[in-house]
Amino acid sequence: MDYVFASKALLPDGWADDVRLRVDQGRIEGIEVAATASADDTLAGCVIPGLCNAHSHAFQRALAGHTEQRSPAGHDSFWTWRERMYELAGQVDASALTAIDKQDAMLQAIVQAATDSGIRLTYVPVLYERAGFNDPEPAAHQRNFAMSLDEFLAHYTRAADYGSESVNIAIGAHSLRAVSHESLAEIARVAADNDAPMHLHIAEQQREVDQCMAAYGRRPVRWLLENLDVTERWCLVHATHMDFDEAAALAGSGAVAVLCPSTEANLGDGLFPLHHFLEEGGRIAIGSDSHVSINPFEELRWLEYGQRLATQSRNVVSLRHSHVGSELFSRVLEGGAMAGGQTTVGLVKGAPADLVVLSDDDPMLAGHGDASRLDALVFSGYPLPVERVMANGNWRVVDAVHVDRARARAEYATTLKTLGTMR
Ligand SMILES: [Zn+2]
Repeated sequence: MDYVFASKALLPDGWADDVRLRVDQGRIEGIEVAATASADDTLAGCVIPGLCNAHSHAFQRALAGHTEQRSPAGHDSFWTWRERMYELAGQVDASALTAIDKQDAMLQAIVQAATDSGIRLTYVPVLYERAGFNDPEPAAHQRNFAMSLDEFLAHYTRAADYGSESVNIAIGAHSLRAVSHESLAEIARVAADNDAPMHLHIAEQQREVDQCMAAYGRRPVRWLLENLDVTERWCLVHATHMDFDEAAALAGSGAVAVLCPSTEANLGDGLFPLHHFLEEGGRIAIGSDSHVSINPFEELRWLEYGQRLATQSRNVVSLRHSHVGSELFSRVLEGGAMAGGQTTVGLVKGAPADLVVLSDDDPMLAGHGDASRLDALVFSGYPLPVERVMANGNWRVVDAVHVDRARARAEYATTLKTLGTMR
């Protein structure tokens, strides 16, 4: 059992002073406010709950910064970027294994990496079975990861065995264009039967909207809502291209929109109708997606900045709280928990002990009281003043350094050297 004594802690109803957290077996088992520290307590400055990264293609980090040069043909877009990403994916796994064996090997590697770094993981096996709405077979370069529904469900069953205190297993379908109506319905049924989050990319690109209109006679989100039982379990990634009626209907379903603002900006996707979606009661989470940024506060910053640029106004996303930082943080904390399949989240009894300790004497936070502290973190750039991180009850970052940083950096550098992204 460990005790963490925070001079400030962000509880569900706001900041509190002198908070003593009792951590046992990876969970917060007690919270005392206006407490006194004991000699053995870990003394912390400001403590906030860790956020869930609700959408991550981890391997794409290797592409960050390598696709920002105009190609000879010009007209660079999401689709030209995707060709580079497929090239990388082929290099990450150039073995002669079948797609299903590759998925199993990738699962083991991801679980091992999460265990080594100590991060909580929600693994989302995702079916990719066809090249497009009217193309029932995968393209040649998609055979690395495409599989049949039966193979996919067998992989999901094996993945479920990896579930533990720190590993959750969700399920998903890649997108409406990559999965048939029948397969999507079956995966949704499995998600419901297992009470698992159900993830799906949707309406990220205008081309996908046009193709969906041509094939199904509906816009993607509209078609999904009319044809599947979309509930709070569903996590719709991007959902960038919605009209106002779709956004209101999606909000009403209770599904989480998983927004990845830095990636969506990097890929030229478009702008999610955030203000309208939130006004209609919509839920959101954030993801680092392609990992061009790995800073959650940068994602929050761009969520708000996109709205400011589009509406030529300021402090747009402040519906429940007058402070934008508080509004965004509280919303994505809740939405991220849903996307990751966690029932309790935040600094509350019974929640996972996932804590971020901020240095309270850092210049970024100087002069900020309880009202604007989260605004400072969202809008003041970075580096973030992260002093310690606890995941699943274990300290993984101490004195601003990951406890296993040297090994992780060396392995990462070695891996990157073997890839051909540097060109
Ligand atoms: Zn994605």
